[in-house]
Amino acid sequence: DDLKITISLSKIKSSGRWAKAEAILRELEEKCGAPKAKLRQVADAMTMEMHAGLASEGGSKLKMLISYVDNLPTGPSNGTLVIEGMIPPHLMVGSSHELFDFIAAALAKFVATESEDFHPPPGRQRELGFTFSFPVRQLSLVSGTLIKWTKGFLIEDAVGQDVVGELTKAMERVGLDMRVTALVNDTVGTLAGGRYDNPDVIAAVILGTGTNAAYVERAHAIPKWQGLLPKTGEMVINMEWGSFQSSHLPLTEYDQSLDAESLNPGEQIFEKMISGMYLGELVRRVLCRMAEEADFFGYDIPPKLKIPFILRTYNMLAMHHDTSSDLKVVGSTLNDILEVPNSSLKMRKMIVELCDIAASRGARLAGGILGIIKKVGRDAVMQRERREGYHSIGWWSV
Ligand code: BGC
Ligand code: MG
Repeated sequence: DDLKITISLSKIKSSGRWAKAEAILRELEEKCGAPKAKLRQVADAMTMEMHAGLASEGGSKLKMLISYVDNLPTGPSNGTLVIEGMIPPHLMVGSSHELFDFIAAALAKFVATESEDFHPPPGRQRELGFTFSFPVRQLSLVSGTLIKWTKGFLIEDAVGQDVVGELTKAMERVGLDMRVTALVNDTVGTLAGGRYDNPDVIAAVILGTGTNAAYVERAHAIPKWQGLLPKTGEMVINMEWGSFQSSHLPLTEYDQSLDAESLNPGEQIFEKMISGMYLGELVRRVLCRMAEEADFFGYDIPPKLKIPFILRTYNMLAMHHDTSSDLKVVGSTLNDILEVPNSSLKMRKMIVELCDIAASRGARLAGGILGIIKKVGRDAVMQRERREGYHSIGWWSV
């Protein structure tokens, strides 16, 4: 009899546990909901903020930065090399000097090993296009001061500095004879790349570690622009849409706590809802609550689950995309990352659902691109195209 009682009690406990976890998921699903009507409001708010950010400096959370790129090339290129580097984590929160020394050293190493094809003609200095994926207030095409760091970087002494000046000094320190001839945000580079192949391209969106968009604006539509009107009548704008904020955004308590405990509280709210740096962390936070309030993983909370950012977005996506009947990938991720062995199928299924809720919200919010399309009036064109049976939205980089 004792044994019977124990069993039935544990059954009650475990069904209560799934029910509570289920309730947490349903609540999340409801709060993350981004149906079409809501997305339209988000897009409209985006369009409004775009106007405000273009009207005056600081007029909106959207910085709408002037890139000084008023002409996107479509001609043939003459040999460009892209060097991408991974920045060691300790340099992301160190000093400006160390970071730029690291970049200059990597460049010097590259130059020392590059093929002859890329040697500049005699008497000409090497030229460097510098893509810097952070918000910069440009002073010209070749200079600009860092407004703030994002995406896990925090190097206080670099804020407010001219990033080209910093890189140039570092290149001098390592004895590298090279000159920066253009400073662009990664979205602006992406836009240039897209326009290169297709002259109809008007915007580029990056959904990566961070998120952002750039597009081609009419110079006349930029009241805060004080300079001469460019000959083309156009100017590329780096929106910095990661810092978009609106009461229409479907924010949850998990977003709020993630933001509050981040390196940049109150900043980059849109980015924190949709980009690769944060999606896995959002899922971890929900799992923490399910563990604490619903004993989702049993009576003990897996210690690894408490470590911020331990669940990376690629782990989350691997689980989300698991199509095996026993959700093998979910099982191995739980085992390898969170040290939760022998997860049940029920548990795995709920986790896939959780990943789906977070990923779907992010994907739908990325539809904020509609705000840009509305701003530049292309949605009318698209409607016509759709009526006529075809449509083109230009070029995306993801
Ligand atoms: C930065 C942007 C950048 C984007 C994508 C954001 O965190 O603020 O400047 O374009 O990430 O890399
Ligand atoms: Mg990136």
